[in-house]
Amino acid sequence: MSSLSAHATTTYESRAYIDGVFEAPTAEWIPVLEKSTGTPFARYSNSNPEQVDRAVRAARRSQSRWAATSASERSELLRAFAAQLAARHDELIALIIRETGGTAEKAEEELGQSINQLLNSATQVTENAGAILPPYKEGKISLSRAVPLGVIGLIVPWNYPMSLAMRALAPGLAYGNTVVLKPAELTPIAGGQILAEAAHAAGFPAGVFSVVPGDGPVTGRTLSEHPDLDLVHFTGSFEVGHQIANFAAKSFRRVATELGGDNAFVVLDDADIDQAASCAVWSALWYQGQTCITAGRHIVMRSAAEAFTDAVVARVQKLTVGDPLRDTVDLGPIISEVQRDRFHAGLVLPSIDAGARVAVGGAFDGLFYQPTVLTGVTPDMPVFTEEIFGPVMPITIVDSEDEALELVNRHRTLMNSVFSGDQLRGLEFAQRVKANEVHVNDGYARHGGEGQLDGYTNRQWIGIQRTPTRYPVWAEARP
Ligand code: NAD
Repeated sequence: MSSLSAHATTTYESRAYIDGVFEAPTAEWIPVLEKSTGTPFARYSNSNPEQVDRAVRAARRSQSRWAATSASERSELLRAFAAQLAARHDELIALIIRETGGTAEKAEEELGQSINQLLNSATQVTENAGAILPPYKEGKISLSRAVPLGVIGLIVPWNYPMSLAMRALAPGLAYGNTVVLKPAELTPIAGGQILAEAAHAAGFPAGVFSVVPGDGPVTGRTLSEHPDLDLVHFTGSFEVGHQIANFAAKSFRRVATELGGDNAFVVLDDADIDQAASCAVWSALWYQGQTCITAGRHIVMRSAAEAFTDAVVARVQKLTVGDPLRDTVDLGPIISEVQRDRFHAGLVLPSIDAGARVAVGGAFDGLFYQPTVLTGVTPDMPVFTEEIFGPVMPITIVDSEDEALELVNRHRTLMNSVFSGDQLRGLEFAQRVKANEVHVNDGYARHGGEGQLDGYTNRQWIGIQRTPTRYPVWAEARP
């Protein structure tokens, strides 16, 4: 901890980084708080619409030259970007802890994912640029070529500010796109300034990557509605994602939205309770439950319910909450009072009023919220019907596998888990879950991989006719 504490007093500024230049602020400074202590440790100012426009125009101007660089050149730059982040390891771990309120383990995960994403993209870009298609006509060569989309507007949330930005930034840049990033207001340093500094030091050409810190309604909206973007990549809430997708549809623009989910964790009657309880506690409470893949609904078959609840409560009672930079704790603070009130006053208290019981937790001191287990939760209660995004585990009892499945599929989910002593039973259940990701006897998500090329490129089909061809008679020159 001592090497991290050494960075506890470092202060930061997040500036607009446009066309290779860190700009002076055009509006007043706004403090960024260290989440555990509530003290300002950094500042940013809102980028105005003129700055957003300049960033997009710089991205447009530099895009074709960037796309024309060789894959190995782009690969080298991505590696240099990764090296810049790795060289600041201890400082960045302390920064991520202070800015997001996560533990050192969470910060290591986030920085590690960011560096790995850069290195993966650096490799992938040298491996695949499209396909050779079977000739559909004699003497014709057919190619399907991956071409960059163009200019990407990237908007990210506060929970994993660096790695969620990097998830689109690294493959986006690798495949020849240019990117304008707007970090979240609560985390503009790890999510914006540091990335700009690292890319700048790595030697990325001006305009290829710009950062416009600022709020959602003005800076974010101006970026997401800028007419000269080819892709808007948004990670965040359903409400804002909906607005962005609506606008993109009206303007026939490509949009990628990574939104929230009311994820389910199912315990069947033959599950290994000890395994299920460990995984449930981790899946529900990692980073104070503030991830899009957090297990928010625990759906347990009646005969396993008592043992599962006891095992979960025994674990949760021992968890410690506090300042992860200065103390050894399991959970840090909630990101903000607004978020705390949203789930506590908005979801937990009304559910208790409706009959849910607090088995452990349920109280808070400032942003330090006790990890909470609620029992007797029914499917009509707000903690069941809404994404909680906080350290709260609601447990709902069901009488059959079919009932569990129906409850899982009632809500939009991103990632689910099912625990069973019989893996094939787990597999059968998983196959009936309507979600892109289900884990049997585990809870784990994966980023990256083979989908990256398709996500950040268009396919251009080129057919080359090598031998003369005869067209229908009416197209031939008539005597
Ligand atoms: P949010 O939607 O409030 O904010 C996300 C980003 O959008 C921020 O940068 C914000 O400034 C910006 N924004 C806000 N209003 C905007 C507007 N009108 N136009 C353009 N941009 C605007 O979300 P949040 O509270 O920061 O994050 C929590 C949500 O994100 C949860 O629902 C969570 O599930 C989701 N999330 C999803 C993933 C995923 O990969 N699917 C990952 C992390 C978080």
